Amino acid sequence: MIDFLIIGGGIVGTALAHELSHYRGRTVVLEKGRTLSGVQSTHNSALVHPPAMMPAAKGKMKSVLGRNGSRLHRILAERFDVPVFQHGAIATARTDEELGKLHWLKRQSEAEGVYTITMLSREEMLEREPNLHPELKGGLFMPEAMSADTAVLTDRLASNARSNGAEIYLNTEIVDLRKSETGFEVETTDGKVFQSRFVINAAGAAAGFIAGMIEDSVPFEPVPRRGEYLVLGKQASGFINHIIYPPPTSRTKGILIIPQPDGTIRLGPTDIKQNSFRFALPTKEGIDQIKNEVNMLATGIPYELTERHYAGIRSSITDPDFYIRSSEKHPRLIHLAGLDSPGVTAAPAIASYVVSDIIQNIESVERKKDPDLAEY
Ligand SMILES: Cc1cc2nc3c(=O)[nH]c(=O)nc-3n(C[C@H](O)[C@H](O)[C@H](O)COP(=O)(O)OP(=O)(O)OC[C@H]3O[C@@H](n4cnc5c(N)ncnc54)[C@H](O)[C@@H]3O)c2cc1C
Repeated sequence: MIDFLIIGGGIVGTALAHELSHYRGRTVVLEKGRTLSGVQSTHNSALVHPPAMMPAAKGKMKSVLGRNGSRLHRILAERFDVPVFQHGAIATARTDEELGKLHWLKRQSEAEGVYTITMLSREEMLEREPNLHPELKGGLFMPEAMSADTAVLTDRLASNARSNGAEIYLNTEIVDLRKSETGFEVETTDGKVFQSRFVINAAGAAAGFIAGMIEDSVPFEPVPRRGEYLVLGKQASGFINHIIYPPPTSRTKGILIIPQPDGTIRLGPTDIKQNSFRFALPTKEGIDQIKNEVNMLATGIPYELTERHYAGIRSSITDPDFYIRSSEKHPRLIHLAGLDSPGVTAAPAIASYVVSDIIQNIESVERKKDPDLAEY
């Protein structure tokens, strides 16, 4: 009998397995892909957002878990030697109205206890970033922002979890989830059935599909949204030395310039509603939109160094906040849904929240006392 069965080995499922591996009980992850984090967790901006970009107004869970996660990412990056780009970010303003928004964001962040950010005049900003558009009016510098190699982070969390006793199976797709007398039965494509006391639905964009296997009615409403990117190759490294945000809108963080730890620069993402959670191909319209918008942020962008385009599907739901809750009918079934941005940032904090605030409220789980346990 398994104690904790996690469906999905993205950054969230893997971070949760890592967290649970510090507790007594058998933890198993079942991932349908050939690799961990092969879906949304690597088809994104790879940004660890700074606290100022995760205000409470954007969703309480997103704000609390995002801010905790941003702090934990620093610890994990050092502990597991994860490649990161950490020169901070600048949120920019093109108009006086947008500049006013940045001042408001600074005041708002300070009211919420974030004091690290500073306003930059146009001149100060251009001194730091000479390739930014000369017509920009000013910016907000946020030192905590970084981009991280999420594939490496996931692999290192997984290998640490495995050395602490967790089991992780790839190429294992769940096709049925049902209640049994002792817990749950989880069935895979090849007819194998796993028995578990707890099931954690960390299937990303497929969370609604998994919930639909067992719930009378799915308690959240998935809304797929595509995000497309254009990637400049390593030769473009140094063209921009900070992560550049456009002025924040009420719904998304907009189209950004995001230097990566490997020297490449991602431009994107778009935000386009689509019908399916399955297909994620970039479109010509999307790439044109990216170019139009980043051309307002910087000049002389070396598009000739474009290396590839890609797209990711956000696991959004109609509710703007994360949906991280036990099923009403089956409390030992926990749904992690609506984990769009800042889900990478929040992942380590989501993992500890699920253990300490959900599982521990259902039954007490004991932390292992093994002195050789690989900690972070
Ligand atoms: C365009 C875009 C940009 C983003 N930018 C950022 C950003 O900069 N910063 C940030 O913090 N967040 C960002 N996000 C959000 C972030 O990527 C997600 O919140 C995060 O990756 C969610 O991780 P996950 O593990 O829940 O999902 P996923 O990575 O999608 O993992 C779910 C896993 O479940 C597996 N699975 C699905 N169905 C089954 C099944 N039946 N059986 C077994 N396994 C199954 C899948 O194969 C997958 O590996 C972005 C997302 C997108 C799409």
